Amino acid sequence: SDYNFYYPTGPESYDWTKNYPQQPMNEKKVEIADVGCGYGGLLISLSSLFPERLSVGMELRDKVVQYVEERIDKLREKHIGQFQNISVIRTNAMKYLPNYFEKGQLQKIFFLFPDPHFKKATHKRRIISPTLLSEYAYILAPGAFAYFISDVEELYLWMFEHFKNHPLFEQVERNIAENDSCIPLIVNSTEEGRKVNRIDGKKWFAVFRRITDPTKK
Ligand code: SAM
Repeated sequence: SDYNFYYPTGPESYDWTKNYPQQPMNEKKVEIADVGCGYGGLLISLSSLFPERLSVGMELRDKVVQYVEERIDKLREKHIGQFQNISVIRTNAMKYLPNYFEKGQLQKIFFLFPDPHFKKATHKRRIISPTLLSEYAYILAPGAFAYFISDVEELYLWMFEHFKNHPLFEQVERNIAENDSCIPLIVNSTEEGRKVNRIDGKKWFAVFRRITDPTKK
């Protein structure tokens, strides 16, 4: 099915003050994106882990976006001055990310428990592909981190291979990844991650770095 919803023609024409009414949006930019954020568990954790940075969730389903909006609104009302650095946008992240973010804007991007699309005929709907990775590389700053995790080994291997084979990404060294403060969050902070915990399921994750454009070295 097709979705008819608003999206900006480019990052310069999007009014971020709607999402972050208490932030100086003429000075600040969103630096962290959670793609397919679902019910928003990661965003809530990111708010206190990175209090000075702005994080946004991008989610396709209208009802889920409304839920996250209300969740953040309630937290903002209950804890005055807090949770002003997280927000959610309803969009198809496979189509419109460059409409929201300019080149090199993001420092972190998350793909947590994305839909597996098991059947071969539906693999093209997966959120990681060579074309989409080039788009993600475009909106990520050199040195920025991309995180992904899945409880479906086949999908994890698919994502890993695509990142590994893309010329603009390299795997983050194990000792660095292991000490990254986002790892506990990607494993346990989202609703999907907690669901997997309840059934004692396995999880596979990796972290890749947006390398400096080799043509510009
Ligand atoms: N990341 C969340 C978590 O770990 O709890 C949600 C995981 S859920 C299995 C996958 C989510 O991705 C769903 O909420 C779905 O609506 C969303 N999604 C799927 N395709 C999308 C797209 N093209 N753009 C934005 N969100 C998408």
